[in-house]
Amino acid sequence: MVTVRIGVIGTGAIGTEHIRRVEQRLSGGKVVAVTDISLDAARRCINALQLDARLYDSEDDLLQDPSIDAVIIASSGPAHEGSVLKAIDAGKYVFVEKPLATTVNGCLRIVQAEERTGKRLIQVGFMRRYDPRYMALKSEIKSGRYGAPLIVRCVHRNAHVDERYTTEMAVLDTLIHEIDVIRWLIGDEYVSVQVLYPRGTRYAHARLQDPQIFNLVTQSGVVITAEVFVNCQYGYDIQCEVVCEDGVISITVPKLLDIFRTGFRAQPLMQDWKLRFAEAYDAELQDFIDHVGRGDEPAGPSSVDGYIATLVGEACVLAQVSGEWVTIPRPEEDLIVKDSLGYGRL
Ligand code: NAP
Repeated sequence: MVTVRIGVIGTGAIGTEHIRRVEQRLSGGKVVAVTDISLDAARRCINALQLDARLYDSEDDLLQDPSIDAVIIASSGPAHEGSVLKAIDAGKYVFVEKPLATTVNGCLRIVQAEERTGKRLIQVGFMRRYDPRYMALKSEIKSGRYGAPLIVRCVHRNAHVDERYTTEMAVLDTLIHEIDVIRWLIGDEYVSVQVLYPRGTRYAHARLQDPQIFNLVTQSGVVITAEVFVNCQYGYDIQCEVVCEDGVISITVPKLLDIFRTGFRAQPLMQDWKLRFAEAYDAELQDFIDHVGRGDEPAGPSSVDGYIATLVGEACVLAQVSGEWVTIPRPEEDLIVKDSLGYGRL
């Protein structure tokens, strides 16, 4: 096993978190270089983490560095496609945050470029597949003890979002986690989607309709209801309940503490994704580093998974705009075949 030398493109919130985990918690990896479109942000990150890493002015320079084995791409979503394609050209392994790319065509360009190399290079940051609770949920469903899944109810709530977050972003920034993890949990593809807008919260700004309810139907007829509510005020709340023929299995808010004070009992809530999915982020990156360090291809969520999530996401955006049920296009046939053979399925 060799130490995997990692370059990081994008040193904002999650880029900095990923660097911290590689440097302080995980084994087998070393961040040797960073860049960001904002060099000030990259410098701040280097200083905050006292990082012994080169600062590159551009991703092109970073990707030309032959001493780098793998890159973590944690820039804003619209920048992912260009960076991933250049990284593939440069022969680097790629861990890219979700979404793989913000358009279906962009995802297909990535899938095809990766295919041309003859091996898997890419892992997409769908970390919920590594979360112990989602893993336990999947294993219960797979056990067959509860019969077939019939209904899935999901909640994705954030305390608040800033002015840059728009109605459309609820899909590729937020719901995309549910889109990926549910098809992974129940092993089914989506066929249609409808979006409902309940009365809007007074905390949403003008360009954001909040909350939103996404109703999705799968090939086998499972109905999924996913609430996205990103100004819920009280904290970060992720729930998933799978209603099966012979039982109900659910993930609720993890308990941190029980607090008893005069006249009441309380449980503090996590405020954001950093803490709720800390184990999952650690596990996904450790898995990526372990595979690359052994000279193996990454085995986590693949570029095909990323493509399918964006394909479903584009249909969700059409449904947001039209207010109608929208048919979700079937993923390209040869990619489904590859996916059903276990490509990217943990
Ligand atoms: P962020 O704090 O805004 O950080 C993104 C950084 O990338 C910013 O410094 C941004 O600079 C920079 N950037 C933008 N375009 C770039 C380019 N072409 N090359 C290099 N750097 C560029 O955003 P974030 O919250 O960290 O999110 C980053 C990505 O991670 C997004 O795709 C997001 O969806 C994903 N994410 C995933 C999870 C998860 O649970 N898996 C959680 C959070 C975020 P400017 O600010 O100057 O544009």
